[in-house]
Amino acid sequence: MPKLESERRGHHFLQIPGPANMPDRVLRAMARPLIDHRGPDFAEMTRSILERLQRVFKASGPVLIYPASGHGAWEAALVNTLSPGDKVLAFENGHFAAKWCDVARRLGLNVEQVSGDWRHGVDPGDVEEKLTEDREHTIKAVLMVHTETSTGVTCAPAEVRRAIDRAGHPALFMVDTVSSLATTDYRHDDWRVDVTISASQKGLMLSPGLSFNVVSDKALEAARQSQFPKAFWDWQPILSFNERGFFPYTPATSLLFGLNEALDMLLEEGLAQVFDRHARLAEATRRAISAWGLDIQCANPEEYANSITGVRLPEGHDADSLRQIVLEKFCMSLGKGLGKVEGRIFRIGHLGDFNKLMLAATLSGVEMGLELAGVPFEKGGVQEALKFLGS
Ligand code: PLP
Repeated sequence: MPKLESERRGHHFLQIPGPANMPDRVLRAMARPLIDHRGPDFAEMTRSILERLQRVFKASGPVLIYPASGHGAWEAALVNTLSPGDKVLAFENGHFAAKWCDVARRLGLNVEQVSGDWRHGVDPGDVEEKLTEDREHTIKAVLMVHTETSTGVTCAPAEVRRAIDRAGHPALFMVDTVSSLATTDYRHDDWRVDVTISASQKGLMLSPGLSFNVVSDKALEAARQSQFPKAFWDWQPILSFNERGFFPYTPATSLLFGLNEALDMLLEEGLAQVFDRHARLAEATRRAISAWGLDIQCANPEEYANSITGVRLPEGHDADSLRQIVLEKFCMSLGKGLGKVEGRIFRIGHLGDFNKLMLAATLSGVEMGLELAGVPFEKGGVQEALKFLGS
């Protein structure tokens, strides 16, 4: 038997920004024996899940569930509504926004990419300008990420919607909410989003493996014109099976059991309370970071994320060495810097099934890690966070 290191005993703090800590209730639900996915109990569960998902997305139109990671939902949104060669306007303000652009390009779409500094969100002024310039309406869709997980920047879809309207442009509006759903207010209908993309492993408190498309009437109309070949991702067969509570393939039953339970938990707590809890935990995290004298990756306080905070290390200090120390000494995983901020930042995930004492422990691990890693910082960040959490 390999010897278990003493530091690895006890609870492992999974403080990456998703997959995050999962509630015992959800884990137990997922361990239930399977049921017939063509039987009446399954149909009832599916219908109830779809109805409650609409409440979480604040959507009156259909929600589609894929047994796939977020990448699948990105692809599904594009291949259902567009045709090869179509132009899309995409805002690359972080690693995941960049990956979505890459998926679009690989599908054969013509991507007009607006690159940012990875410290700010999508500028609605840029959206308006680009769409106003496009007098021929060659741009068929606008793609944005609500909360960019790689940076901790939350953009404003409502503002982007207004910018599209000011430009009087008919492009479809697609928003990735993988990191914002069930941590931050989101309104598919009010913001007239045409396709909302999301996934199970963050605010929904589930393991990875499910992802979602939420669609508007306009998106359904676009789907009728789409020329992309598709089979598994095709909305139509899924929508018609879903009406009866079924899927046109063998569904991921255990993940759906988990989703069923997670939705109960979120709605029992109340979405407003869920958002408020995340906002307070995020604020406490930022107070600790400021007291440490470190910089937050998100440069605009109005765009701070509820689910994740990126922390910049001073020049010459490696964020991955710090993460390694924290894992080895304190049994806690922090999020890695991705893409062009690799090694420069680490990310604290404060989302999902998470409370004040879990955050206090998380910040303690970071503060002890900073000391061990020899990063110059001011002590007392945890104290500042505790003052706020206890108030
Ligand atoms: N979009 C965002 C904002 C993400 O954070 C992620 C993954 O973390 C994705 C999309 C891609 O999702 P997945 O890794 O589940 O394919």
